[in-house]
Amino acid sequence: MTVLDRMPANDLTARIVDGPGGYSGVDGDEEWAAEVRRLADLRGATLLAHNYQLPAIQDVADHVGDSLALSRIAAEAPEETIVFCGVHFMAETAKILSPAKTVLIPDQRAGCSLADSITADELRAWKAEHPGAVVVSYVNTTAAVKAETDICCTSANAVEVVASIPEDREVLFCPDQFLGAHVRRITGRKNLHVWAGECHVHAGINGDELADQARTHPDAELFVHPECGCATSALYLAGEGAFPEDQVKILSTGGMLDAARETGARQVLVATEVGMLHQLRRAAPGVDFQAVNDRASCRFMKMITPAALLRCLVEGADEVDVDPEIAKRARASVQRMIEIGQPGGGE
Ligand code: SF4
Repeated sequence: MTVLDRMPANDLTARIVDGPGGYSGVDGDEEWAAEVRRLADLRGATLLAHNYQLPAIQDVADHVGDSLALSRIAAEAPEETIVFCGVHFMAETAKILSPAKTVLIPDQRAGCSLADSITADELRAWKAEHPGAVVVSYVNTTAAVKAETDICCTSANAVEVVASIPEDREVLFCPDQFLGAHVRRITGRKNLHVWAGECHVHAGINGDELADQARTHPDAELFVHPECGCATSALYLAGEGAFPEDQVKILSTGGMLDAARETGARQVLVATEVGMLHQLRRAAPGVDFQAVNDRASCRFMKMITPAALLRCLVEGADEVDVDPEIAKRARASVQRMIEIGQPGGGE
């Protein structure tokens, strides 16, 4: 008897609708959560959810975290099947670190505008223009780009990764221009070339909005993710005294959760994707967390709907595969990242 024979289609499964924006038709209620847990057990699967996922998906998962932390959990989990509720490059990273496991993503159309802002061909052409340069890529990249990369980095260790490279070597930094600008400012490095890629969500959080928020919430702390277009503005505003320097914290998503538990502030403004608010509010229920821009929602992350997760568990799809040779080279660049400083967890 196969797993599917033991999964009779029920009313919930019959309601799933596939459309251009993803799978819909199913509410993330208690009945759905019980069915998801039952199917995950039948498949012997562990469910991982990124911090930017819908609250219902976060609540039904076995583990919630940032991309690198989840990839490490995937590698260590005893289960042979990993269901990765996040965007495609994240599921690829889990596959790179756990090549023997089956990795499923509830909707393989969930891409990432930042990862898509550089292809392996474009990176090869850029390298050809700068022979001998060291390539540093943020983890939000495809497996094919990681395979062309010398060292991957997260927002938490990007500065240390670049500082570990001899001063006289050129550095190519991709794909995030805001993280690249942050690294260039901190290291003062002139031979660091930055790819002009961006995430449409983080780029949508701008300095004007931040300045307004700073004026109207003078006692609040400010948590900024360095991929945000506003990171530079936040530091500038702090330098100008508009936002007291000790109230501004530039943090990876994992760092935000630690800071949330430790903060003495009653209100915290958060400059990153709005899904992060759910985990922050759970981590520190007594603190009032507010989004700097409540429209900063990643439509790719939100393609992992209750309907998509249900379909994934019933059909065992979509499976994520990475060519073994690409995976081997990509794994080496991810491994170097883990050896340098405290990589945190990426986005
Ligand atoms: S928020 Fe931006 S960087 Fe993150 S997955 Fe969405 S598009 Fe990619």
